[in-house]
Amino acid sequence: MQQFEPIAALATAPGIGAIAVVRVSGEGAIDITNRIFKGKDLSTQPSHTAHFGTLRQPDGTLIDEVLVTVFRAPTSFTKEDVVEISCHGSDYIIRQILTRLTREGVRLARPGEFTQRAFLNGQFDLVQAEAVADLIAADSEASHRSALSQLRGGFSRKLKDLRQQLIDFVALVELELDFGEEDVEFARRDQLRSLMVDVRRVLHPLIESFSVGNAVKNGVPTVIVGKPNAGKSTLLNALLDEEKAIVSDIPGTTRDVIEDELFIDGIRFRLIDTAGLRHTTDTIEAIGVERTRQQMEKASVVVYLFDGAETTPGELRRTIAELEEAGKPYLLVGNKADLTLDSGRQTLDDIAGKGKIIWISARDQRIDELKAALSLRVRTDSAVQTDGALITNARHLEHLTATDEALARAINGLDAGVTADWLAMDLRVALRHLGELTGEITTDDLLDSIFGRFCIGK
Ligand code: GDP
Repeated sequence: MQQFEPIAALATAPGIGAIAVVRVSGEGAIDITNRIFKGKDLSTQPSHTAHFGTLRQPDGTLIDEVLVTVFRAPTSFTKEDVVEISCHGSDYIIRQILTRLTREGVRLARPGEFTQRAFLNGQFDLVQAEAVADLIAADSEASHRSALSQLRGGFSRKLKDLRQQLIDFVALVELELDFGEEDVEFARRDQLRSLMVDVRRVLHPLIESFSVGNAVKNGVPTVIVGKPNAGKSTLLNALLDEEKAIVSDIPGTTRDVIEDELFIDGIRFRLIDTAGLRHTTDTIEAIGVERTRQQMEKASVVVYLFDGAETTPGELRRTIAELEEAGKPYLLVGNKADLTLDSGRQTLDDIAGKGKIIWISARDQRIDELKAALSLRVRTDSAVQTDGALITNARHLEHLTATDEALARAINGLDAGVTADWLAMDLRVALRHLGELTGEITTDDLLDSIFGRFCIGK
């Protein structure tokens, strides 16, 4: 545990609010605050206690009435002495407090510096530290859930354990190298092999979860395509109107509905290229048209909408073939269920396969089954296989992939009977990437680039 020089920053969002919190952390944080605080002697107060009093200028002028919370090392977020000053949420007061603190020898914190200290003091690993940023930025239930799972150690704990086992093996392999010419084998090759296979088995679902993880964080790009008059703009409006209704039902919310964004089961869907759908003269044509292809290119999920009453069996068959060829996950949606005869529906269902067509009526707002299917599409993709752990960060993906590749080389080498020095080389690469992932190996550059992306006060 280390106590660094004292730093301070506004921990709440800048701007006017009922209260604001200024956080001070580091060596002497409590004593320094005590020098400007009147009302109680903070230096004798136990950890995790709150105290009412005033902050004053050196000449005794009142800055504000405040509530000060004291956290003593090591039971604080940074594991240092921490004071949180809750003051009135005025920019002027905040500036006065920060200036007063800097005059007492406190430095203004850099972006992410509190979290960086927490990491350096072993509060959590790097993946967890990054999850702090994600958690704060999370604005949907799914991204919140994923950040929270990472913050709790999610996949990094498991990887750290496997890395330790690999380290033990590498030590044995390297010991063999010391014996040079002699033909010794300390590391049981069969055990090493099965360990590497196990590690790869853990890595794969995580690597695959990136596309979903990314979607959870940034929204799932979704496109609605279909022939003119299929009902695409009606569907778009039905989806978005419902969204607007939900948002305006939440009392006190001022958040505007973001154009063309939709939340289903806490997952964010971004409806792309909807401008054309708004104007019926410019509707997206059926697939096969170049523009539609380009739009499908940008999407993770394609909603193919057709008029159930008008579509012939032959047409549906061709459409399915084209969608399959495009290779994108798609949902086959039969619109105007209200106009479609049971017999017609039956014929089309038989062609597509049982339960494949999702029947809706966009005009009547009967679209729940489509929404359920969209949500299911994302959730079943991979979150289940990883116990909910999702990779949402490109840095993590890079290290996981590099580890996996190094292990694949090591396994191939092992099977081909390569010498211990070759084996050790690939294993070391794998260990380095795993170590950088969780932060057991770090460089200042890496830490600066990760924590520099946080905002001040975190
Ligand atoms: P787009 O060209 O694919 O955007 O299709 P529109 O949304 O403009 O719809 C074409 C026509 O179909 C409009 O007259 C809609 O009112 C109508 N329509 C859309 N959805 C339904 C539905 O579920 N049932 C019925 N009966 N008509 C619908």
